[in-house]
Amino acid sequence: MREAPADNVFGRILRGELPSFAVYNDEHTYAFLDIFPSAPGHTLVIPRSWASTVADARPQDLAACMHTLQRLIPAVMKATGAHGVNVVSNNGPAAGQTIDYLHFHIVPRFSDDRLALNVPGSAADADALAEMAAAIHRSLLEQS
Ligand code: AMP
Repeated sequence: MREAPADNVFGRILRGELPSFAVYNDEHTYAFLDIFPSAPGHTLVIPRSWASTVADARPQDLAACMHTLQRLIPAVMKATGAHGVNVVSNNGPAAGQTIDYLHFHIVPRFSDDRLALNVPGSAADADALAEMAAAIHRSLLEQS
């Protein structure tokens, strides 16, 4: 079990030092409402054991978060009437992570909500894709 730094907002919520609107709670995970929601019912899921990002989390904590997401998504959809959800995890400040505690957003979505959450893309060159795939394969080999 890893403890978050003392001043970490989500660590403080877990320790009960800051208030939160809990929606789910088990041995390994905690879920609560985002207080600046992108839509009503916007929920955050965190592991009880601290990690900054997906890359440095323990596999068992990631599995526990996925299990909680599976349970919560239908409940959030039913409670909000949403047609779908985005499950988002911003990893690193460059990706928009503002709190140094791994978390998964569940953002309720409606067909006509115009939320700007969908990532835009453009067609890539096949050679560039092949080079990038090779570079990632090389990085994986160096890692193992
Ligand atoms: P991110 O930008 O991915 O790091 O997301 C952090 C989220 O935490 C944002 O959506 C904030 O609105 C939310 N947030 C910040 N402080 C609190 C808090 N005390 N309770 C609940 N949600 C919070």
